[in-house]
Amino acid sequence: MTARFLLTSEDATRNGLLKKKIIHYYIANGDATIAELCKEMNLSIPTVTKLIGELQDDGYIVDFGKQETSGGRKPSIYGLNPTSGYFLGVDILRDRINLGMLDFKGDKVRIEENIPYRLENTPAALEQLCTVIDDFIRRLDMPKEKILAIGVNISGRVNPVSGYSYSIFYFQEKPLAQILEERLQMKVYIENDTRAMAYGEYMQGIVKGEKNILFINMSWGLGLGIIINGQLYYGKSGFSGELGHFCMFDNEVLCHCGKKGCLETEASGSALHRKILERYREGSSTILAQKIDEKEQVGLSELLEAIQREDVLSIEILEEMGVNLGKGIAGLMNIFNPELVILGGMLFQTDEYLLLPIKSAIRKYSLNLVSQDTDFKISKLKERAGIIGACLLARSKILGMI
Ligand SMILES: [Zn+2]
Repeated sequence: MTARFLLTSEDATRNGLLKKKIIHYYIANGDATIAELCKEMNLSIPTVTKLIGELQDDGYIVDFGKQETSGGRKPSIYGLNPTSGYFLGVDILRDRINLGMLDFKGDKVRIEENIPYRLENTPAALEQLCTVIDDFIRRLDMPKEKILAIGVNISGRVNPVSGYSYSIFYFQEKPLAQILEERLQMKVYIENDTRAMAYGEYMQGIVKGEKNILFINMSWGLGLGIIINGQLYYGKSGFSGELGHFCMFDNEVLCHCGKKGCLETEASGSALHRKILERYREGSSTILAQKIDEKEQVGLSELLEAIQREDVLSIEILEEMGVNLGKGIAGLMNIFNPELVILGGMLFQTDEYLLLPIKSAIRKYSLNLVSQDTDFKISKLKERAGIIGACLLARSKILGMI
């Protein structure tokens, strides 16, 4: 059997590009007749009929039969075949991996969260990542060629076009995307984690028609996803959105990027962790004391648990961080004039403790006219934003939509 379209070099031909455009149309608009497609794409009936026929042969499009109309000829309705291909999403976090798979229509097939993993910048951790992905694919129990592409989210500087990741897993001259493709024997796209979350939220989350959006990802680090006129904004090399490394403080705290005074050193999970340890050593009490004394792991989950149990020290620090982040967001709003700011990432599980100081700082520090224009919403997909975004980005990239 010859390889199907989307897995061959036919992609780049005019025919291939038109077929991608047809699939794109169905993703954006749902099922449609050939006449509707012709009108939208400005093509002749014979051309579209031929392309639809080829897409049916490959299994991507199905004929749902004649539609009911009041008299006259009844045209057939066509639409995407959900089982014609699948997309795998990999969301790498500091202490775990979330994996998921969506079908060709974008519906959930399987999601597995909190697979134990320790993100270290070593070749061994990269191999471990591949093993986790291999195991997931094995558990899916489906032919590997059904998986059309994998999307992998990575924190830090990622150039999705060249396939290089500069902050994590940068060991060889070869781009990381190529290394993963060779190891996994599949098409792999890499993406900055926050940008993938923003895309997930845009396509299947809280976004309801807004086109100019800022997505804040406050987890262990601090990131920003930017959507302008309905498109992800990458910048020249894919490094846009490094909000965490915006120099805002004279605090002499060294950031992991090598500089000091970054916003991330005052507003992020890692900042919360550092500040709790500092204040505890200075004499403040906290329910994390025993864990700190016994040198047990205190990661994001432990910090969130402490907040949930109303640890006053953690809450006080969180509120201070909210003010600092609010100032940063106010500045972004003055620059971008967004319709919507989405607050996402693990730390927004704390709800009001973080939200209230952020909103108050935004009111205080942003221009009134600008802030009246902007809606604020907490991420709807929450911890799944990254997986959903990774899968949908893989689909959009293989279709040339991004
Ligand atoms: Zn920094």
